[in-house]
Amino acid sequence: MGLLLLFRVLLVAAAAAARAPAGHAWGKEGHYMVCKIAECMWQSFLTEEASTAVKDLLPGWAAGDLAETCSWADSQRFRYPWSSPLHFSDNPGDCKFSYARDCHNNKGEKDMCVVGAINNYTAALKDSSSPFDPTESLMFLAHFVGDVHQPLHCGNADDLGGNTIKLHWYGRQSNLHKVWDVNVIETALKEFYNDDQNTMIEAINLNITEEWSNEEKQWETCRSRTKTCADKYAMESAQLACNAYEGVEQDTTLEDDYFFAALPVVQKRIAQGGVRLAAILNTIFSGNRMLQSS
Ligand SMILES: [Zn+2]
Repeated sequence: MGLLLLFRVLLVAAAAAARAPAGHAWGKEGHYMVCKIAECMWQSFLTEEASTAVKDLLPGWAAGDLAETCSWADSQRFRYPWSSPLHFSDNPGDCKFSYARDCHNNKGEKDMCVVGAINNYTAALKDSSSPFDPTESLMFLAHFVGDVHQPLHCGNADDLGGNTIKLHWYGRQSNLHKVWDVNVIETALKEFYNDDQNTMIEAINLNITEEWSNEEKQWETCRSRTKTCADKYAMESAQLACNAYEGVEQDTTLEDDYFFAALPVVQKRIAQGGVRLAAILNTIFSGNRMLQSS
């Protein structure tokens, strides 16, 4: 641990004590946290009706916990090769997301990106005559709402969303995409949260009710009558990805400065992902009209 990091850890730990508990995808931890924030902790963003409907659809192995299923989609890439492009939507390097331009797979088939997938699985879950398996639709949806909030899932297509930018994260080999999928979260868990995901989730939840309480309602608001607002979330990620690339070159070493700039962004994106996943599920399962209100 660098001296600067140690100093900041002590500061943050003191602040946390004073405030009480303080590849291609978010890693397991990121997805788990997004879903856990959506379903419950101190407060549940899911309505009771939606929560019951979600529990009814979960596979037996989830033991009633949506979060347990939120990395399932990553394990299906070989079984469902068509699903690989659904985890992201890269751009030509202009820090923007354009559905017409960017939402396709490498064969040019449209809607085959993370935003199209969120819209399509939402529509499938709303439609009882849909041919899609509703349990799989739910697990895909919960995963992709997490993915669209990871900035590097809407990064530059030329470097595969940062995957080809090899670098060191402190002393270890990594790449820019992986830094945002797992390294920032792992380092935060280790340094601030005693390697306990639940403590980190509690800290993020506390921020939602305190620091971000004025913004939280806006995160949920979506004025689209027909679709989700996943295109808006992708646009946010594309802009955040631009900042993430700043000053990062091949073989660079990222340490404290980068970590402390990235961590608040990662925590806020996890929070937004959780709140919005709950809002989408509420719309699907409990007639909450928030997503359709104009
Ligand atoms: Zn993914």
